[in-house]
Amino acid sequence: MAAPVALVLHGGAGVLADRSYEAEKRHMRLLAERGRTLLNDGVPALDVVQDIVRAMEVSALYVAGRGSSPNTDGRWELDAAIMDGRTRRAGAVAALEGYVSPIGAARAVMDMTPHVMLAGEGANTLARRARLERVTDPERYYAPAAAPDTRGIATGTVGCVALDREGRLAAATSTGGTLNKTPGRVGDCPLIGSGTWADEMVAVSCTGQGEYFIRALAGGTAAARVRYLDETPEEAARYALKDVKRLGGEGGIIAVDHKGRIAEPFNSPGMKRAVVHADGRITVAVKSP
Ligand code: ASP
Repeated sequence: MAAPVALVLHGGAGVLADRSYEAEKRHMRLLAERGRTLLNDGVPALDVVQDIVRAMEVSALYVAGRGSSPNTDGRWELDAAIMDGRTRRAGAVAALEGYVSPIGAARAVMDMTPHVMLAGEGANTLARRARLERVTDPERYYAPAAAPDTRGIATGTVGCVALDREGRLAAATSTGGTLNKTPGRVGDCPLIGSGTWADEMVAVSCTGQGEYFIRALAGGTAAARVRYLDETPEEAARYALKDVKRLGGEGGIIAVDHKGRIAEPFNSPGMKRAVVHADGRITVAVKSP
């Protein structure tokens, strides 16, 4: 029997507006189907998570990539990270400006430099060197400025974790950051071990109020509990999320381990997500089950 593959993707955790989320659900189902096909065809988890996150970035359906809204200076500064579990290689960009796929820039950091993270001008320069696709008309390309959100830290992000046929795990996360953020603000998503993590046993991607996920070291905590305490991804992710909540934050965590066991807990009103379970089933949801 072929080794199981599994994948979880998220389109951000947070409040749910009083509207239908059918477009996002349809899109996430298509992406889950695509992820399942790629994984069954033997495509490495690292390439699959990048592919899925890129598709979410360009869709404008989520607060990442094209769907990002500007910071208080009217500029779009985007964060992203990608990590390969088996090799522990990782790449991340923070406050990247002017490129269609921040996750592609994160991959370029991993593949083209000896570093893990580049920020600001350095990230832009590398993206240029890697000949990544540019955003030439940001005012038209990105989402319009979001209405001021009354919550302290309003959120939106996309992410994907996957287990491939060779048993390799990978994680990718990309975000426009929090709405109306201060220029230069960097969230948890590009910080390896906070918003994004993958090792030999588990891959994790977080979404929510990044400041709290950083202070809870959420992704790394969940992974360490799988690794050292032999917890299931579900137990480990719930533990990490409890600490986020104790500190006053909300959001969600997706995870998959080397056995194909998945987790998708959240403590916010909703989290857009889709799962390819190890038995091949696909589930899609935005609210609690
Ligand atoms: N965690 C992201 C950030 O703080 C936002 C989100 O996930 O919605 O930048």
